[in-house]
Amino acid sequence: MKYYVLFGPPGAGKGTQAGAMVERYKLCHISTGELLRSEIAAGTELGAKAKALIDAGNLVPDEVVEGMIEAKFNSVKNVEGFLLDGFPRTLAQADALKDMLSRRGESVTACISLMIPDALVHERIANRAKLEGRADDARDEVVSNRVKTYHEKTEPLIAYYKAAGLYREIDGVGTIEEVRNRIFEAMEK
Ligand code: ATP
Ligand code: MG
Repeated sequence: MKYYVLFGPPGAGKGTQAGAMVERYKLCHISTGELLRSEIAAGTELGAKAKALIDAGNLVPDEVVEGMIEAKFNSVKNVEGFLLDGFPRTLAQADALKDMLSRRGESVTACISLMIPDALVHERIANRAKLEGRADDARDEVVSNRVKTYHEKTEPLIAYYKAAGLYREIDGVGTIEEVRNRIFEAMEK
């Protein structure tokens, strides 16, 4: 089984590129952001707790997303691997993923990192806010907090996956198709 981590700042295009990746490599797409938004939409207790954190641009607790990921690993069948989009986002989550996979005799295949500058994060999210109506996209202060959270808590994963020899960085600036081709090229290697 393949286990790809799709990494990058908010608005880097992870969700956009994930579709083509899962189709080409027969992967199951797991987006923790989408899973959390469906909990919110379904009005669950977990969703209610997550909503306040997400709407302020903060991360939800590690155990919450780790539990969601493990539940998917246990339930999804008939795929050639998984594409983890938005997970891990902290060093603790990366360690938890490593442990979860090693209990299955598996490991991360590669970390595909989509890189865009902070100014473009703000521009893309402002555009998406008009199209998708996500509460966490609506206010620029919240977007700034998400960027800050990314730099503080998530960026250390770059060194983590580099040290493991698994880090593949892709320039996320360009058209959807240009970026997709760069990703496929990195995945073929
Ligand atoms: P992109 O636009 O590239 O898809 P994003 O950061 O805008 O990325 P999501 O990945 O959908 O959006 O995440 C939305 C929110 O859900 C995050 O800001 C955070 O509050 C919460 N979240 C998602 N994944 C995690 C995680 N692994 N750990 C903690 N919180 C998470
Ligand atoms: Mg997303």
